[in-house]
Amino acid sequence: MFLPLVSVLIGRLIGVSRYRLEPTPAQERVLLEHCGHARFVWNLAVEQHAHWKPGRKGAPGFAEQCRQLTEARAEFAWLRAGSIVVQQQALKDFAQAMANFFGKTHKRPTWRKRGRSEGFRIVAVKAGVVRRLSRNVGEVKIPKVGWVRLRWSRAVPEGVKSYRVTRDRAGRWHVAFAAIPEPIPAPGRGEVVGVDRGVAVSAALSTGELLKAPGLRDTEKAGLSRLLRRLARAQRGSSRRAKVNAAVARLKARETDRRKGWVEKTSTHLARRFDVIAVEDLKIAGMTRSARGTVDAPGRNVRQKAGLNRGVLAAGWGRLVERLEHKAPGRVRKVSPRYTSQTCNACGHRAAESRQSQSRFRCLACGHQGNADVNAARNIRDTVAGHAVAARGGSPLGGPVNREPQRDLLLMG
Ligand SMILES: [Zn+2]
Repeated sequence: MFLPLVSVLIGRLIGVSRYRLEPTPAQERVLLEHCGHARFVWNLAVEQHAHWKPGRKGAPGFAEQCRQLTEARAEFAWLRAGSIVVQQQALKDFAQAMANFFGKTHKRPTWRKRGRSEGFRIVAVKAGVVRRLSRNVGEVKIPKVGWVRLRWSRAVPEGVKSYRVTRDRAGRWHVAFAAIPEPIPAPGRGEVVGVDRGVAVSAALSTGELLKAPGLRDTEKAGLSRLLRRLARAQRGSSRRAKVNAAVARLKARETDRRKGWVEKTSTHLARRFDVIAVEDLKIAGMTRSARGTVDAPGRNVRQKAGLNRGVLAAGWGRLVERLEHKAPGRVRKVSPRYTSQTCNACGHRAAESRQSQSRFRCLACGHQGNADVNAARNIRDTVAGHAVAARGGSPLGGPVNREPQRDLLLMG
């Protein structure tokens, strides 16, 4: 896997699905060899691409590199002795890293150094590659190494599609499981969709669709507040308190599961339907610091923050973008959120007052009105499609240029 995502993933996986590996000394020797081979192959690819620039021919593609790997293995016994799975994956990861570099979503892949960022990845693993032996002990099957023990410190996610083995500078081994899905092929119609994260809705599409992630039902919400009241009354350390706590955890887990399901469904749907998916480039942290609507006008709506923050986090936006990047690698574009919520998508006029409320947009200049999130989603789409919102926003008096007919209004109802 390409390094930037790896580091993000590993970072995110800490405390989520990273487990301490406890290889025997003999196993550790093979693991170190795997790391060395992965690094060797990766650096070979970096070397081949070092002097290559976009638009210039000559850098070998993945197929060519695979052929070279076969040759190298024929030539070098030490490489041949290693796992082809590990070595080929390093090449695949590099190819993906280059695709992301060209897609302008990531930096150019760089050298891997011995003793730092050591690791390798195994993908397309079969079911049963991880198993639990006892309460705190499990094991994972690693090519050419066999079953390696791991500390079963938390539940292993279901549907593990790949795992990455890493060694930190202190010499500790970890395995991180990921249920990363295979990329979904682009439909190839050249269609771009803009997606705006909302609070009232979880996501608004430039097509006019409003998507809402499911949460708890009203009866469940009522049940939850009842439980929380009970919890407040229950004595610390009492068995009653433990029981109520468990019930609360069950409800929250149900909510999380529903949202995760929605994210999976929605990301698959978008990746299948559109070639390019444009989203706001906005860190979830920044988002939670300044409530929606204050991105363009910081300092406003401060009182609403608390409530909105909860809504934003609940909407699971970060997870949606992450899954989109897995399912549509290189097809997700992040655009600056600046002015997307205040610019009229019909005429390009920019005014903070045009966004009348969380959900309503009404252009002060042309009278165009509709859902504010859909309007923003269209600006996001148009930024990627080549109509720069920022440029239009820069000249608020600029008239309508090359605008499509107002079919948008019909769709929005
Ligand atoms: Zn307008």
